[in-house]
Amino acid sequence: MRGNLIGPRVLLRRLREAMAGAGDAQKKLDSIVVLIASNMVAEVCSIYVMRDNVDLELVATEGLNPDAVHETRLKVGEGLVGQIAAAAESLSLSDAQSHPAFAYRPETGEEIYHSFLGVPILRGGHTLGVLVVQNRARRDYSEEEVEALQTTAMVLAEMIAASDVVAPVAEANRSRQRSIRQLHGTVLGEGLGLGHAVLHEPRVIVSNLIAEDASIELSRLNEGIGNLRAWTDQVLLRREVARTGEHRDVLEAYRMFAYDRGWANRMREAVGTGLTAEAAVERVQNDNRARMMRLTDPYMRERLHDLDDLSNRLLRLLSGHVVTAAGEDLPDDAIVIARNMGPAELLDYDSEKLRGLILEESGPGSHVAIVARAIGIAAVGQVAGILDDVEPGDAIIVDGEAGDVHLRPGADVELAYADKVRFRAEQQARYRAERDLPATTLDGQDITLLMNAGLLVDLPHLDEAGAAGIGLYRTELQFMVAARFPRMEEQCQAYSSILNAAHGMPVVFRSLDVGGDKILPYLRHAHEENPALGWRAIRMALDRPGLFRTQIRALLHAARGQELRVMFPMITEVAEFDQAKDLVNRELRFLAEHGHQGPSDIKLGTMIEVPAILWDLEALFERVDFASIGSNDLLQFFWASDRGNARMSDRYDPLSLPVLRMLRDIQVRADTAGTPLTLCGEMAGRPVEAMALLGLGINSISMAPPSIGPVKEMLRKLDIGQLQEMMGDLSDSGKSLRQPLEDFAKAYNIPI
Ligand code: PEP
Ligand code: MG
Repeated sequence: MRGNLIGPRVLLRRLREAMAGAGDAQKKLDSIVVLIASNMVAEVCSIYVMRDNVDLELVATEGLNPDAVHETRLKVGEGLVGQIAAAAESLSLSDAQSHPAFAYRPETGEEIYHSFLGVPILRGGHTLGVLVVQNRARRDYSEEEVEALQTTAMVLAEMIAASDVVAPVAEANRSRQRSIRQLHGTVLGEGLGLGHAVLHEPRVIVSNLIAEDASIELSRLNEGIGNLRAWTDQVLLRREVARTGEHRDVLEAYRMFAYDRGWANRMREAVGTGLTAEAAVERVQNDNRARMMRLTDPYMRERLHDLDDLSNRLLRLLSGHVVTAAGEDLPDDAIVIARNMGPAELLDYDSEKLRGLILEESGPGSHVAIVARAIGIAAVGQVAGILDDVEPGDAIIVDGEAGDVHLRPGADVELAYADKVRFRAEQQARYRAERDLPATTLDGQDITLLMNAGLLVDLPHLDEAGAAGIGLYRTELQFMVAARFPRMEEQCQAYSSILNAAHGMPVVFRSLDVGGDKILPYLRHAHEENPALGWRAIRMALDRPGLFRTQIRALLHAARGQELRVMFPMITEVAEFDQAKDLVNRELRFLAEHGHQGPSDIKLGTMIEVPAILWDLEALFERVDFASIGSNDLLQFFWASDRGNARMSDRYDPLSLPVLRMLRDIQVRADTAGTPLTLCGEMAGRPVEAMALLGLGINSISMAPPSIGPVKEMLRKLDIGQLQEMMGDLSDSGKSLRQPLEDFAKAYNIPI
């Protein structure tokens, strides 16, 4: 039989010519079925296309009764053709009529044909139709024939999508894919982002399907697969990949697939049928996608998703597009979408154009989420399946308040969000207008509003938000977003930039606070059952002082000739502060011995975030120049309630009386000792909580930059004396002051 074939490559070229030629759509389809039938030495060749997602309509045939064209319809799942469409799998039978699914359609006259081979016409995993050949004699179709027909179907699919040949089909398919969708995830970064989809890893559009020279395409494919394997080996070896956790699982799966011979061979076979290397990858990817869409087992779906990712990467390798969308022309309102992303990759984007970020994986604790918050974009993570549905350029809304994503939103949703955005913009304008006004309460008390920072991208906020300085600079963030330990010079450079940007305003650098939830993937770390209670922060610094000393040296260099403030995290007992201070003094001596200029003044402080230190505060305050309450950790230890556990996040109230009593106690004792005290945990940035802190007498608070506006607006309407009267001596037996505080704010028109 093969002797009669004109060869799949010639067929593909003729198909292309037939589609490109003049004439109406029906004529083209009619000539295509003749071409295919003659190439396959089949008596029948028929094309069925999907209508409205439910019916398969016979649109062209060679061999069946021509009157059946546009008359015969089968439901998806009905008959052999319907089954192929439903399963998105080919079907080859030597005696079709004895198959239980065979549906007899008298108008077609197909009863005389026994052998049947049908393949789905797939595009992007979606079924556009079914292509069938039939023979009178009972015969088995060879694997090569199946393969050749699948390739033909792929070319047909691309042509259908790219032209108006079967316009209603392509249209129906497009409109289905492009329907409105709402997805939900976890908030990574607050805010609202309205814009257009940009795929972080751009999909390669394969436009050249038909190979000029099969042997060249085969060697291109082999080279691509080789490069892909090398890439998976490399990323797994690289030390920045966490040793455990989801990310590594995905990479392990990538490697397994990259080395899978079955996958490689399927692509090679597809090249053998006349496709280019890229088209062969896409052919196999189509089958994979079709399977993925039909699987319900989440684990298997995930793995097929991995394979899909890997196919995309192979396509990029083959076409030389390995870069991310950050290097491309972005729309002015880019919403970047990725399965996952490293923090440095997000920093590569032009932040002026970035409106939002959507990730299929990554939770709030991920490093990319930290960067998203620092840049100040709306970001939502753990949005399963968005990449299966989104097309570049789609309109998208990221709701970084509710954790919702609206894909191709309707006009009503767009309007509602446009209102929200306008409201936020007005709010922001109000905050900006108040930026240069003093942070003074109605009864004349000056409050120090500082901001928390940790990356260079935070710096513009210093001016924008109108902060009086940086109350907490989390130095570990630079370490967390890097691929390896930042060298001393790199650290020094970062610290200098911060001091420069602060223009003499105070900056409190916190020494490295790694461990717990702050993991440096490249730092070997023994497994701990309870990392929050483990070997972290100052404990690590004192046990292995190398890192700590390098950091201190970088800080001392950066702050030459000016004041330097350094604060130690997780001080649990006074002796730890003493030891840390000794190490700083050693570095100072070292500097002096080598004739380097040091800071004009050094102030050393401590975080108060471990309950034990509360029983030795006087001794601590005698030693330190300042202190800052880290309410995030202090409360997690106070309540024995994991700060990162979403189930626990609303369980206990920071405005409960026991918490307020503890905070007031710290404040009173700091006051007695004359030690400047700040609070720099998340509660400082929430207006009601901030109001309570002011009522306790804590008049220096440090918060994320976006909170400064709302907190300042609140305090400028607040009379602290009145508030303190309302709060009383906290001796009540009530549970929480939240409600009374909210009532108070309402009564006095205080925006909270
Ligand atoms: C805290 O614990 O409250 C704090 C400010 O530090 P971090 O959130 O970085 O642990
Ligand atoms: Mg802390």
